[in-house]
Amino acid sequence: MGFNLTILGSGAATPTLKRGVTAQYLNFNERKILIDCGEGTQLQLRKFKVSFQRIQYIFISHLHGDHYLGLLGLLSSMHLLGREKAIHIFAPPELKEILETQFKLTYVKLKFEIIYHDLNFKAKTLIFEDNSIEVHAFPLKHRIPCYGFLFKEKLKERTMIKSKIKALDLKIPEIVKLKASQNVARENGEVLNYLDLTHEPPKPITYAFCTDTKYIENLKETLFKVDLLYHEATFVHQLLDRAKATYHTTAFQAASLAKQAEVGKLLLGHFSQRYSSTTDIEKEAQAVFENTVCVKDGDQFLLG
Ligand SMILES: [Zn+2]
Repeated sequence: MGFNLTILGSGAATPTLKRGVTAQYLNFNERKILIDCGEGTQLQLRKFKVSFQRIQYIFISHLHGDHYLGLLGLLSSMHLLGREKAIHIFAPPELKEILETQFKLTYVKLKFEIIYHDLNFKAKTLIFEDNSIEVHAFPLKHRIPCYGFLFKEKLKERTMIKSKIKALDLKIPEIVKLKASQNVARENGEVLNYLDLTHEPPKPITYAFCTDTKYIENLKETLFKVDLLYHEATFVHQLLDRAKATYHTTAFQAASLAKQAEVGKLLLGHFSQRYSSTTDIEKEAQAVFENTVCVKDGDQFLLG
């Protein structure tokens, strides 16, 4: 259980020997998730020792090449290596046509099913949930339709105060009730109050992924107090005009958003190829929001 994020690609536009293009692997309470899949992602998965056949869910932010062109190769490799388990893909609706056209024209019949979930929303929408996590998509502002993702852990049960179990000779059905925030009435008339016998559950973990986008000030509501925020910072603020023209964000803007949203930690990525070092980007952001890191391929972030 827990949260383990691996950065597979942290550069913008084209893959280079130093940085892959956008892709992240997230193991969140044993849900195996791929977020974006730029060209070369399957090699990055191998390099960073992620078993790609175990991926269950793929979330694609938008259909610029540096965010999805690796998908066809990855799905083809899954097929060649004998995958039979279905995979869920959450993406703008055009992706289905792109993939299915390619498979059809090349006479490929995949051994596994792709279950498509269209992203086509004007406001924040719940797109996935199970008994442990939920995922929301929200629109960003880019040259083509683009979505951010908010991954939220569901509130866990309360935990027992160990010493009370023995002291009160608690039975399993009683423990189950107490952990579910219910009081227990015993046969002798005694009422056990769950607040006296259990600890608060741990705070649910939250992670938000935002790329590619113009600076959107009111995203601070969606991102409010997330533990970890990944936000693109394609340029330094000196190139604000360039950022505006290409619908991207500067390091200063990303850090301002993190500050206003009171997030726990800010991860920056999607750096323009013009930067051979991220020192200036990181400095600029840290001046506004101190707990900021410019990510590199292979970086891992653990929570919980
Ligand atoms: Zn883009």
